[in-house]
Amino acid sequence: MIHLERDKKAALVSIGVTAFLAVIKYFFGVLSGSIALTADAIHSVTDVISSVGVLIGLKISGRKPTKAFPYGFYKAENIVSLFLALAIFYAGYEIILTSVEKFGTVVLTNLPFAIAAALTSLVFTVLLSRYKLKVGRELNSPSLIADGKHTQADTYASTAVLLGLLGYYFGFSSLDAIAGILVSVFVFRAGYEILKDAIKVLLDASISYEGLNRIREVASGTYGVRKIRSLKARSSGKFMFIELEIETNLKDLERAHQLSDKIEEQIKSEIKNVDRVLVHMEPEEKEFMRYAVPCTENKGLSSKVSGHFGAAEYFCLFDIDLRTADNELTDMRFIKNPYFALERRKGLKAAELLVTNKIDKLITKESIAQKSAFYVLEDAYVEFEETDAATIEEIVEELKA
Ligand SMILES: [Zn+2]
Repeated sequence: MIHLERDKKAALVSIGVTAFLAVIKYFFGVLSGSIALTADAIHSVTDVISSVGVLIGLKISGRKPTKAFPYGFYKAENIVSLFLALAIFYAGYEIILTSVEKFGTVVLTNLPFAIAAALTSLVFTVLLSRYKLKVGRELNSPSLIADGKHTQADTYASTAVLLGLLGYYFGFSSLDAIAGILVSVFVFRAGYEILKDAIKVLLDASISYEGLNRIREVASGTYGVRKIRSLKARSSGKFMFIELEIETNLKDLERAHQLSDKIEEQIKSEIKNVDRVLVHMEPEEKEFMRYAVPCTENKGLSSKVSGHFGAAEYFCLFDIDLRTADNELTDMRFIKNPYFALERRKGLKAAELLVTNKIDKLITKESIAQKSAFYVLEDAYVEFEETDAATIEEIVEELKA
């Protein structure tokens, strides 16, 4: 909350100071007849309008979505900006026109007042830009920093105005009109900045790379997300809409649904101004399937399949390549069952051992349904199959067929 309030305070201070400067520049600009000073007043007005416009736009865009506008009114802000930009371009054009028309024929009166006004403007603009940059950096607010940089550049316009007036004082009468043309460049720049941002949002441009990376980081850190297939995010006004396509190993619909809720929650708590997160889930694309079979011995393919699960001396683990047409065997190894002689809980311990070896399917002679081992394995999404085969080789042959 403190964060938002300082942000807002800086914006209001900026609007207040700029409006005050616009008034004194306009007053003394007209009084003295200085084109440049009047032009800079118009420039300040465009800066105020763009700041106020954003605030007004926020009011409209804050309206709740309706049936006819299910995605809300966020872009209203950017449509307002579009019209503002056009108005600002027109102001820049008018300044150039006046400067050219009056070139060489400028007659200034009340020069000391005009110089004092220009000097005041320069001093306040410098202070204002420093203030906005300082607060912006402290709050890590990109919009406030950008605004501070804009004001920093505006000090060149104020300097040009001051030099134009001083030049007139020393007998270079056309310097005021030249400064006027220079100021119009700043007006055009203000218009261009507003136009660019508005068009980006209206055309659904992506958010920044840093923003995307941050979202990717948060989403992939959520348990159950195996891979992020695609990520899209766009701004609409001040708000963000995110579309995420993920791979998960969760097979249960209920759990998958909980996962998507969790991802949304995480993103919204870590990143500001997120309106909506749409999560599309796909089952994890498996390249191989890992089987486990309890054995009585460690003799490669000819090993005998054990009739027991927890009491088996060995487990044969092998991988079947799912990308090949004939289910090729790619890897085979035996792990000793250190729990086979235990009095109690040997099945449970063996099940935990297999889970840490990331098996996908368990093939047994005896059914382990309803035993504690069964629940451990089921919890890790392991599948089950019963077999009559005597050796590992027979099982592998059956899988190939
Ligand atoms: Zn400006």
